[in-house]
Amino acid sequence: MVRLVVLGGGESGVGTAILGLKKGFEVFVSDKGEIKDKYKKVLEHFGIEWESGQHTEAKILNADVVMKSPGIPDKVPLIKELVAKGIPVISEIEFASRYTDATIIGITGSNGKTTTTMMTYHLVKEGRLNAGMAGNIGDSYAKMVAEQDFDHYVLEISSFQLDGIVDFKPHVAVITNITPDHLDRYEYKFENYIASKFRIAMNQDEQDYLIYDADDEVLVDWLKKHPVRSKLIPFTLKGEVEEGAWLENDTIKIKLEHKTLEMSTDILALEGQHNVKNTMAASMAALLVKVRKETIRQSIQSFQGAPHRLEKVLKINHVEYINDSKATNVNATFYALDGIKKPIVWIVGGVDKGNDYSELMPLVREKVKGIICLGVDNSKIKDAFGNVIDLMIETFSMEEAVKVAYKMAERGDAVLLSPACASFDLFQNYEDRGNQFKNAVKNL
Ligand code: ADP
Repeated sequence: MVRLVVLGGGESGVGTAILGLKKGFEVFVSDKGEIKDKYKKVLEHFGIEWESGQHTEAKILNADVVMKSPGIPDKVPLIKELVAKGIPVISEIEFASRYTDATIIGITGSNGKTTTTMMTYHLVKEGRLNAGMAGNIGDSYAKMVAEQDFDHYVLEISSFQLDGIVDFKPHVAVITNITPDHLDRYEYKFENYIASKFRIAMNQDEQDYLIYDADDEVLVDWLKKHPVRSKLIPFTLKGEVEEGAWLENDTIKIKLEHKTLEMSTDILALEGQHNVKNTMAASMAALLVKVRKETIRQSIQSFQGAPHRLEKVLKINHVEYINDSKATNVNATFYALDGIKKPIVWIVGGVDKGNDYSELMPLVREKVKGIICLGVDNSKIKDAFGNVIDLMIETFSMEEAVKVAYKMAERGDAVLLSPACASFDLFQNYEDRGNQFKNAVKNL
C-alpha cells in the first residue's frame, strides 16, 4: 500500500486524509499542535490513524508522499529532511486535483482573493454550473473531490498552497495583484513571493488563460521577464485593451473570445475601485467557463460581498460604520481609504508586519479627520501620522475604540475599522476582531 502522511490535522489535512483513504492509500495524520475535536471525530469515524501534540518522525519519514498544510513553513527541520530524502511534499490543491477532471478556476493574489473567488462562484452558480468553491476558503477541496466531486471548482489559492504544487493546472488562473506580504516565509525576498504567485500558471498551456491586473507594475514587469504559455487576459482601470477588460467613463467593458460585455459600475453592490477590478476578473473568469453574459450582468448586482471586507454594518445618527477587519496589510487599507467618499474616523493598528505607511499619507491627509489606535504597540502609527492628524487617541479594546469613534464622528462621516495590521495582539483572528467591532457598534 502507498503511504500518505498528512501533516496538519485541520480542514485541508482531514479532507486530504479522507480522499487518500478513498483512493486506497494507507493514511497517517500527524499534527504537532492540538487537533480540534470535530476533526478528531471525523478521523475516528473513518478509522484513520492520527497523532497530535507530536510528530513521530520514524513514521513520517517512511511516507511515500506527504501532504503539508499551508501553515507549516518549508524551513521546519522535518520538512527539510523529507525533501532531502526525496519524498514529495505537496499541498492539498495538488493532491485533490489528481483525482478530479473538473474545470478549475484558480484565484490567487495578495489582496482580493476571497472577494474575487466568492464573486466568481456566485456567477457560475447563477449560471447553473455544477460548481464547488474551496481552497483557502470554506470547506476542504479534497473532501469535496472525495464526497461529491463537481464539474467546476472555483479555488482560492494562497502562495503557500502554490508552493506545494507539481502538476496542478487551472484552466483559468487569476492573479488579482501582487504587493509585499508574508515575506517572512520567503527569505524576505519579494521576488521569491512573486515567483510563488506565478506558479499558478506554470503548468498552463496555450488553451488556458491567465487573467491579471495590467495596472500592477510588479505583475507586468515580471511577465515581461518570465513569459508564460497561457493566453494573457489583462484587466485595467485605464484605456481600451485588445482583449480583456477596461474602464470607460463609468462603464466596465469586456472583450473576450469574440464576446463583448458592458456593465455600468453603478449596478455594482460593492464600492471601491478595487471591487471594479475584482468584478472584471470574476466576470471574465465566468465568461471563460461559458456563463452567459446576461446572467453575469444580472447576477453581479446581487453579489453582496464577503464579511469583514468593507462591510457596511450600520448607520447611526447619519454616521456609517464600516468593518474592514480583513485589511491586514497597507495595500488593503489603501483601497478602503480610497473607496470611501466621506470624512473618515479611522480605527487602525495591531501587529505590524513591517508596514510602510508612506503610500497612505496623501489619502490620510485628504480624508481622515481622526485616528483611533487599537493595538498593543502603536508607536509606528503615532510616528507615521502624529504630525499629520491632530486628533489621535490610543485605545486598548474594541469596545473602547468604538465608543471613542462614536464621540469623534459627526453627521455625514464614516467610522472605518481598517487595521492594516494582523490581529493577534488583542484578538483571536481577523474574524474575531470584525465581530467584536460589529457587536460594539450594535451596542452603541
Ligand atoms: P484576500 O483573500 O486576498 O485576503 P479579500 O477579498 O479577503 O482578499 O480582501 C482583503 C482586503 O483587501 C479587504 O480589506 C478588501 O477590501 C481589500 N481588497 C479586496 N480586493 C482588493 C484588490 N483587488 N486590491 C486591493 N485590495 C483589495
